[in-house]
Amino acid sequence: MSKLNGSRPSRSRVTRTVRAGLGADTTHRAVMPPIHLSTNFFFDAPGVYGKYDYTRTANPTRDLAAETIAELEGGCGAVVTSSGMSAIAVATRLLSAGDLLLAPRDCYGGSYRLFSAEANRGTYRVKFVDPWDPESLELARELRPRMIWIETPSNPHLRITDLAVWARLARDIGAVCVADNTFLSPVNQRPLEFGADLVVHSTTKFLNGHSDVVGGTVVAADEDLLEEVAWWTNAMGVSGAPFDSYLTLRGMRTLHARSRVHEENALRVVDLLEGSDVVTRVNHPSLPDHPGHDIASRQQTGWGSLISFELRGGRAAVDAFVDGIEHFALAESLGGVESLVTHPWTMTHASMDEPARVAAGIGQGLLRLSVGIEACEDLEADLERALGRAEAVASVLV
Ligand SMILES: *Cc1c(COP(=O)(O)O)cnc(C)c1O
Repeated sequence: MSKLNGSRPSRSRVTRTVRAGLGADTTHRAVMPPIHLSTNFFFDAPGVYGKYDYTRTANPTRDLAAETIAELEGGCGAVVTSSGMSAIAVATRLLSAGDLLLAPRDCYGGSYRLFSAEANRGTYRVKFVDPWDPESLELARELRPRMIWIETPSNPHLRITDLAVWARLARDIGAVCVADNTFLSPVNQRPLEFGADLVVHSTTKFLNGHSDVVGGTVVAADEDLLEEVAWWTNAMGVSGAPFDSYLTLRGMRTLHARSRVHEENALRVVDLLEGSDVVTRVNHPSLPDHPGHDIASRQQTGWGSLISFELRGGRAAVDAFVDGIEHFALAESLGGVESLVTHPWTMTHASMDEPARVAAGIGQGLLRLSVGIEACEDLEADLERALGRAEAVASVLV
């Protein structure tokens, strides 16, 4: 494994995240900022009010969560939305009829569904490409998209897209460059520093980090974009609930600390999988033979804790692997404190038809892990047992 070139989060950024909003309550002098659930705020006179009037438009608890996320990503501001998908819907409101959206073929399934459905009804046009293929850069120059969508690492193969190259191209052709940074969180990658205009997240994942809130965010690089996404968030009514914002802010205070354990555990799990005879392939950008390794080492400040791997023995081996697994919950989602195992064929990618799954390299023997922050010895012992069960099945099949 080679070293990462990107800078680690500054100490002051860590401290500001842990201490976000401390002392904001001047009435009772509470240390931690209170939660403001009120939907409405007093007017001084008809048409005269303070910073807040109505919670869909703005709310102090949500604002604090948004400021903290913007700070983490190095943006000028952010909106907090009701889900990752509503954040993505807000970002794509910047497109008009006839505009082209260039998006990765293996983008998040919900994004693929939304982009395709909007294109079918003429809201905008969409073209799906393989962003790691140099030919798609040429194609982008020709097609002149209005928006370029980036998701790096991708799901479930953890393919890496070069943020600087695509952001520069976007600038050259006057496109808005949007990065979905859900898989790494701003601790491990900050796309705005590479020239992206907007960053979106499903805060459901690492930012909240406790698998108990569905939420999203759009972070903007400049004031004009921020104003536009804030306008759409209010107009569409997809702003995040104060209680969800409060939980997300609470989760983010431990983001840096959690990320260290996620990373440490993930690297040990990668090692373990690499040493197993029943594993035919491990996908993780930390591996020197991963095709995106060099780009990842330039643009990421951590390798991330999502891993996918292929089992010899296909579906039967997968069933044996998950049957009796103790510390990895068989569930969708990612980025929470708890470890998860996902079978893309039957779970996250089941809505793709079979030939499309095969074409995308999603076989029946592929599994994805989201490595949590449990004691690594427990995770390792559990995986050893699961791989043993898979091995027993795979060797009978041969
Ligand atoms: C989960 C996810 C989303 C969608 O977020 P929701 O909070 O589930 O709406 C979008 N992009 C990526 C990469 C995700 O993992």
